[in-house]
Amino acid sequence: MSIESFYPPRRILMGPGPSDISHRVLQALSRPTVGHLDPLFIGMMDELKVLLQYAFQTKNAFTIAVSAPGSAGMEACFVNMVEPGDKVIICRNGVFGERMRENVVRCGGKPIVVDDEWGAPVSIDKVEQALKENPDAKILAFVHAETSTGALSDAQELGALAKRFGILTIVDAVTSLGGVPLLVDEWQLDAVYSGSQKCLSCVPGLSPLTFSPAAIEKIQSRSTPIQSWFLDQSLVLGYWSGDGKRSYHHTAPVNSLYALHEALILLQNEGLEMAWRRHQNMHDVLKLGLEMMGFKFVVDARYRLPQLNAVYFPQGIDEATIRRQLLDTYNLEIGAGLGELAGKAWRIGLMGYGAREENVALCLHALDTILHKE
Ligand SMILES: *Cc1c(COP(=O)(O)O)cnc(C)c1O
Repeated sequence: MSIESFYPPRRILMGPGPSDISHRVLQALSRPTVGHLDPLFIGMMDELKVLLQYAFQTKNAFTIAVSAPGSAGMEACFVNMVEPGDKVIICRNGVFGERMRENVVRCGGKPIVVDDEWGAPVSIDKVEQALKENPDAKILAFVHAETSTGALSDAQELGALAKRFGILTIVDAVTSLGGVPLLVDEWQLDAVYSGSQKCLSCVPGLSPLTFSPAAIEKIQSRSTPIQSWFLDQSLVLGYWSGDGKRSYHHTAPVNSLYALHEALILLQNEGLEMAWRRHQNMHDVLKLGLEMMGFKFVVDARYRLPQLNAVYFPQGIDEATIRRQLLDTYNLEIGAGLGELAGKAWRIGLMGYGAREENVALCLHALDTILHKE
């Protein structure tokens, strides 16, 4: 058997990630690879930091991209910030909150779980109660945009609450960054991670990460070493920091970083506020069409993410077959339900470059046509 080159079709990606990628970002990927300590590459890395600071709306000096997907950004936050015995309040209203809890356990920390229903945002009142009951808690961790349900939590209120109780925050902004307002400095968030493949519309495999000065202080005052060598950010610091002293830690994913640089330039050119508005506008159009077809949203309109639309599908349909038909006939990918919503709801993503009029129109047309045939 001869194995030949792989030529994937051009799909329209309207799932929970990866999202559609602009040709400009894909072209950036195929530019010549240079050495990762090449002075020109280092110059690009410095620009990348500035672009990431803009996306996160932060002046944090420690603002980088972890050379691995969003899950590694999550793990980087927990292994660096949580020491054995540390009490961490974990907000769980979907799949990713549960993963945060697992991370705390693996770091030897003590998770205090604040549960909310799937599809609901994190309850500020419940978190406040947990903070009162656990005055020795060190960290509050929550997911800003729960991709498993499409619920948006109030990161500003949660950040303020944590500060009022004098503790640090770990924030999952994988799906929120670039899609809805996220103001890291103004909201006083401490350790915030994201992903390249959601609303930034870059290739999967990178995780933007920013640490506030207070987060750095917590890491530097640890009495136990960080158990992960690769994710120990104090070692990575020397690689990403300027001053011409850049030293080898690991080989950076050179071409992927070109792509992230390009994706962030697109975001900067559009402007964050315009990008947030575009996601909202495209959501409004999609919502109208889906509701006209009889779909019901999982999340209440007040807490609904524009970039992740979880809708219950009609009872009695073979949902996997329909998603397969969307893929085969229209080259269109939408997401299945995850966790509690598996077999009940679809997740339709409008992320980054995918949040476009033509995608919304195609999705509504394709769903309408296939459901009518059924
Ligand atoms: C996608 C996602 C992750 C994980 O990112 P990967 O790039 O898949 O590792 C973490 N948290 C949230 C909220 C996500 O949507």
